[in-house]
Amino acid sequence: MTQTTRRSFLHQTTLAAAAAAVGAGCSSTTSAKHLTKRGPVIISTWGFGKPANELALRTLQGGGSALDAVEQGIRLVEVSGNSSVGLSGKPNAAGVPQLDACIMNGPGHQAGSVAGVEGVVHPISAARLVMEKTPHVMLVGRGARWFSEQQGLKVLDPAKDEASYKAWLAAREKPSPGKGDKPDNHDTVTLIVLDTNGDLAGGCSTSGWSGKIPGRVGDSPIIGSGLYVDNEVGAAGATGLGENVMRYCASYAVVENMRHGMSPTEACAEAIRRIAKTDPAGMDLAINFIAINKQGEFGAAGTQANFPYSITTPEFSEVRKGQPLSQSTQKEGGNE
Ligand code: ASP
Repeated sequence: MTQTTRRSFLHQTTLAAAAAAVGAGCSSTTSAKHLTKRGPVIISTWGFGKPANELALRTLQGGGSALDAVEQGIRLVEVSGNSSVGLSGKPNAAGVPQLDACIMNGPGHQAGSVAGVEGVVHPISAARLVMEKTPHVMLVGRGARWFSEQQGLKVLDPAKDEASYKAWLAAREKPSPGKGDKPDNHDTVTLIVLDTNGDLAGGCSTSGWSGKIPGRVGDSPIIGSGLYVDNEVGAAGATGLGENVMRYCASYAVVENMRHGMSPTEACAEAIRRIAKTDPAGMDLAINFIAINKQGEFGAAGTQANFPYSITTPEFSEVRKGQPLSQSTQKEGGNE
């Protein structure tokens, strides 16, 4: 399939996914179960998370679980034509998008993830299936693709995409990054749901570092790095240069900061300050975190100026700015 064909497939799928998502995976017998005790709170990275949050909310309102909401919200971004998520995302140095995703369910502390997977239209669903149908937590590469196909997920042939990236590759001075190089660009959708029972679920999905060496895996599918959910405390997730996140199990660190009493915004900011102390990049980290605690307080912080994140409840749905670490006295962030 050419890139054009692939993109148009993805575009068509977007509309179908948006239409089908509210009912998908939702049992009518559980309708309103997740909305009875308190309003749900949904947080995600970047402005492009907002429609995903809103679909996640509708999924809850249709009787879906927090996990359903996470999956449906992220599926929307995976087929929205986003240039950093899903098969329309950034190709690696060989011209093929290799996708990373993970999902965690607070109750039972379950996790699933796929990494470096090619051709899978919905890596977040693959991650959920790893969690629910296997004794494993993580599948990578061809195995993850094979498993996705076996489970009935839509899988395209990435080999046929290579030709469409020829010009892109030819324009590059170096076919793949060397030590010290920074990526041209990258982004991740990380989305976390606190439902009305006070249960948490989260997920993330990305094509990772643009032009990465084939086989490179970022922070996003690594439990504790790109995402961490602890149903007793809260949840946190990352976007930004994964190499700066995964050396520190940084989302786990954010959750632990909340466990020790920090607000979500402060927990994110403190994790970044701690990393900056020892990371060779210093404050030039290009990392951003979102967090939510069990009480429904939420926040975000980032080294990227005015890191936008999306926050949605039944009352409002907005794109806000995380606390900028370069101006840590400026109070932005969450609702704490
Ligand atoms: N964290 C992702 C990665 O390094 C990219 C991003 O979120 O910008 O693969």
